[in-house]
Amino acid sequence: MRYISTRGGVAPIGFAQAVMMGLATDGGLLLPESVPQVNAAALRRWAGLSFQELAVEVMRPYVGEDLTRDELADLVQRSYAGFAHPEVTPLAEVGDARILELFHGPTAAFKDVALQFLGNLFEHILEREDGQLNILGATSGDTGSAAIYGVRGQPRINIFILHPYQRVSPIQERQMTTVLDANVHNIALRGNFDDGQRIVKALFSDLEFKDAYRLGAVNSINWARILAQIVYYFYAWGRVSGGDTGRKLVFSVPTGNFGDIFAGYMAQRMGLPVERLVLATNRNDILSRFVNTGVYQASEVYPTISPSMDIQVSSNFERYLYFLMDQDPHQVKALMEQMAQAGKLEIPADKQAEVKQLFAAAAVSEEETKAQIKATYAATGYILDPHTAVGVSAAQGYTGAVCLATAHPAKFGDAVKDAIGVEAEPPPSLQGLMDKETRCAVLDATADEVLAYMQQTLGN
Ligand SMILES: *Cc1c(COP(=O)(O)O)cnc(C)c1O
Repeated sequence: MRYISTRGGVAPIGFAQAVMMGLATDGGLLLPESVPQVNAAALRRWAGLSFQELAVEVMRPYVGEDLTRDELADLVQRSYAGFAHPEVTPLAEVGDARILELFHGPTAAFKDVALQFLGNLFEHILEREDGQLNILGATSGDTGSAAIYGVRGQPRINIFILHPYQRVSPIQERQMTTVLDANVHNIALRGNFDDGQRIVKALFSDLEFKDAYRLGAVNSINWARILAQIVYYFYAWGRVSGGDTGRKLVFSVPTGNFGDIFAGYMAQRMGLPVERLVLATNRNDILSRFVNTGVYQASEVYPTISPSMDIQVSSNFERYLYFLMDQDPHQVKALMEQMAQAGKLEIPADKQAEVKQLFAAAAVSEEETKAQIKATYAATGYILDPHTAVGVSAAQGYTGAVCLATAHPAKFGDAVKDAIGVEAEPPPSLQGLMDKETRCAVLDATADEVLAYMQQTLGN
């Protein structure tokens, strides 16, 4: 399988190179040149597989020649061995909804499903080329810890994660700073999240430094993250349908950067029987407005009780646009230029109709989110985290929908307690965090300080 850019400016490259490239060098996003097709016989067979077996089947055509079947199977085994549930992503029947629990990984959020795999994949590729990688990223909370857990202890990788000093939740802070492996470097910046992002951008555009230190990114634009997320759509379908290919499912997906729901879209394009993808946003509703009006236009970012979805411009949206615009990079480029210049883009009416054939969308308010946590708890005793509650609320009217549960409710204990008066029992991975030893550097929020710290840490 070869990979190309949504903007047409990258000569086709292989899987491993696409994973190492992250963002396409022409500013676009990398996608496979063609979408592998899954026929009915394969769907029926896959419905009986374990999560790990299924992951190998789903990923194999995307990986092409770059990994043997055994290498891929080994990566998959190691990536999901640390999950707290034997099914990895089990499906719970909750009232008339189905909750796809994606939070059994080490940081209790769905990002583990992709980042555990990406960490092992990076290490595998680096071993083969006898290379080293220095990952640099800024986090407002969730992604940082999942990325750290994905690469902790990997001998060929160092990771530097910037978070705003004393401005992430105590649990989130502890999840990052209690990881004491020698290759993990937490940096708390005296500033806010935007300062962190600004510094990361500045260091990545220092090309001399970037090349000398082989800087890499782990944000959600990496193709391998999408790939790992396609798997659980097939898994959920297999568990519900038992392999009956006439059975189409509705999936409801709490959405921020359009990564998770784009994986669902890829599954559908591969041939998974999907009736509808429900795109659920909180008050930060650029994506739900797009589905409902055909106009993509940012407004300001509001803080909510589902903070991992407090995003306006979505980094993966361009991948969907590429398929919507009939895989024509010129049209994608023109629309993205429109976006950069006018702050909005608009698709033609026939394309909007196409969007609505597959997607439905709703923006869920703070009050509705809390009401959903309360209603589900009262009716079933099951506790939803606020992100998952947004998806469950948006799925109203779709009986039997599969709702993706993106975080464990104990991770957002305050919002849950506010809604139902009790907190969820924390999973083992979140217990005892406040008593553990921590390591973290506190720096001024300047690129020079961070650069000097990295050079010193890396030994020249
Ligand atoms: C990252 C995240 C999301 C949003 O996922 P996207 O792929 O950005 O759409 C939703 N819920 C939680 C808990 C998250 O951490």
